[in-house]
Amino acid sequence: MTFKALVVDKLEDGTTKASVQDMTEDRLPEAEVLVQVAYSTVNYKDGLCIGPGGGLVRKYPHVPGIDFAGTVEASDDPRYKPGDAVVLTGWRVGEAHWGGYAQKARVKADWLVPLPDGISARQAMAVGTAGFTAMLAVMALEDHGLKPGNGPVLVTGAAGGVGSVAVAILSALGHEVAAVTGRPETESYLRDLGATQIVAREELNETVKRPLESETWAGCVDAVGGAMLARVLGQMKYGASVSAVGLAGGAGLPATVVPFLLRGVNLLGIDSVLQPYENRLRAWRRISQDLPMDKLEAMTQLATLADLPQLGADILKGQVKGRVVVDVNA
Ligand code: NDP
Repeated sequence: MTFKALVVDKLEDGTTKASVQDMTEDRLPEAEVLVQVAYSTVNYKDGLCIGPGGGLVRKYPHVPGIDFAGTVEASDDPRYKPGDAVVLTGWRVGEAHWGGYAQKARVKADWLVPLPDGISARQAMAVGTAGFTAMLAVMALEDHGLKPGNGPVLVTGAAGGVGSVAVAILSALGHEVAAVTGRPETESYLRDLGATQIVAREELNETVKRPLESETWAGCVDAVGGAMLARVLGQMKYGASVSAVGLAGGAGLPATVVPFLLRGVNLLGIDSVLQPYENRLRAWRRISQDLPMDKLEAMTQLATLADLPQLGADILKGQVKGRVVVDVNA
């Protein structure tokens, strides 16, 4: 019995090509749990793995898809049995290990999380790594003292996947949210998600001129990095924290240490890939409580396996708005 998968092949000239192909179970990697995938999604890393590889893919042919949700078909691990609803993000699945852009995936039991009550497989993939990471970033800010009423919380790369979910969660928790975007046409979308202020990307994209500016932000979820993160550090309120999530604007950090020394600003690193199991459960529980599902639906577009080569190229150019859910059986 064959099933469909998006397979990336390496061509003789060194380039890669992604296409929907027939796949058989015996070609799937060895691991304990076979999952019937229902939905997957598209993150920035998926764009790399569908296309050039970005140093993430080790071997070709490759099946990308860093996230998936579905139902256990067979399991050699006592924690899972056929019929269990599961979700997977991270663990380098879709990069070093074949991922969720297929109707079946075989993965380690340690990598799976039971799908939380009240969230469907489709909603879990509307969240995906991007939304899961946004929740981790918000939890880190809270663990470092952020409370509603402290002042506006900045979200950079706001119209992207991480940013959109962060805006919706922070707003639902009662925070004032300032959304930074380079796409002015997304203003009404961001306001519908709960942003109360829109900040143009150009306002924050300049290299730091003064190490400290006026104390403006009570917290920040930063998906951009680079010059923007450096600039934002100098605008944080005394003792406030920034969750550093992404590098859409660059991996460098042309900053000074002055905001750390004179304002007690905290820079918190957020990694979604190797998060311990207990914190994964905590984040998914919080998502089911604090992310309004109507807002999630409003930021989501549906796609099929055949749409992925184009969507992968689009996300690398920063042209995907919000979240994409991939129905692998469509
Ligand atoms: P998206 O492409 O959906 O969003 C990124 C957003 O950043 C864009 O939509 C755009 O927002 C903004 N942006 C893009 N290019 C630039 C630029 N040159 N300068 C300033 N802003 C820019 O990606 P995701 O939301 O999925 O991921 C965001 C980042 O987070 C990526 O770098 C990704 O690798 C990282 N990430 C990290 C994780 C972790 O575990 N730490 C997990 C998931 C993602 P707008 O149009 O609004 O300006």
